[in-house]
Amino acid sequence: MAASGIVVLGTEQQAAWGRREMPPVEKLPAGLWSVPVPIPDNPLRYTLSYLVPGDTGVVVVDPGWNDDETWAALVSGLGTAGFALSDVIGVVATHVHPDHHGLSMKLRAETGAWVAMHPAERDSMPQRFGITTGEQRHAGMSQILRVSGASEDEIEALLGGGDPRSQPDFRMAEPDVLLADGDLVPLPGRRIRTVWTPGHTPGHICLAEEDAKLLFTGDHVLPRISPNIGLGPSQDAEPLARFLESLAKVAAFDDHDVLPAHEYRFRGLAARTAELIAHHEERCQELVAVVRSSGEPTTWEIAKTLTWSRPWEEIGRMRFAALGETSAHVQYLVARGELAWVPEDAPRVRVA
Ligand SMILES: [Zn+2]
Ligand SMILES: [Zn+2]
Repeated sequence: MAASGIVVLGTEQQAAWGRREMPPVEKLPAGLWSVPVPIPDNPLRYTLSYLVPGDTGVVVVDPGWNDDETWAALVSGLGTAGFALSDVIGVVATHVHPDHHGLSMKLRAETGAWVAMHPAERDSMPQRFGITTGEQRHAGMSQILRVSGASEDEIEALLGGGDPRSQPDFRMAEPDVLLADGDLVPLPGRRIRTVWTPGHTPGHICLAEEDAKLLFTGDHVLPRISPNIGLGPSQDAEPLARFLESLAKVAAFDDHDVLPAHEYRFRGLAARTAELIAHHEERCQELVAVVRSSGEPTTWEIAKTLTWSRPWEEIGRMRFAALGETSAHVQYLVARGELAWVPEDAPRVRVA
């Protein structure tokens, strides 16, 4: 989706994005630093980790993926900003996706820093559902595909190839500090307020640096990509409704500079959030049209029929995220009364 109505502030980041390179470590207003850290084998390429110095040390927002290369980039970025690893006193995870929270455990182990997140995010961690191994995750994904209407062959095509037991344990750091909506990050010398923005995940938070008018948006609002809103055991009951409410909530920060966790910095949250809301409304209308033309399709059949950024045959493992996105929209439309589950035959839906 082309972003309109925003002003790009991270022009070097945007240029690097276009050249498919890593952007530079940059000094930002109010003494903050932006440190890009790589995400291995991922089209997003990097997470923008942020360093927030206060009176007693540095807080790291979203340290990144749990990988040696990512760790090296974070430590090197701290050095460029003039900090030692021992200066880190806290870690805030905007949410627990591994490209944000993966390194928190190692960073805490190496520095003694506290780790903070929203209570709903703590409660959404896969380990809270007894899922800590690749095998358990594989079983969970297979089950979601099955109940959505995928055939065993389609499940094998999507999840097969490679022994799930060979995937590493992905247990992540539990929080030492909980940040509810409106709470200040415990960093003396700074006023950084928690803005709860459920949707992308149940406990996703943005952080407002009130004096400098900066808003860290994590994955909630990015300048170009529309964040994935999926379904799963750890998701909200109505994630898309929550996400749309959370977009309206941050539109009020229109005069703030936006520090997202991917892509590049920008200003213009009112325009960007309006664009994302319109995008989801368009998707809803497209989805209703698909259901109308195909009778009583399963969620999986709808996902296959919707348009994606690339043809269905080419999106590979992204099909799982596409299915989650479709499920979230179907459920939203059922709640809105535009679609109805076919009695006794879920996940089939029809136009209400
Ligand atoms: Zn995420
Ligand atoms: Zn992310």
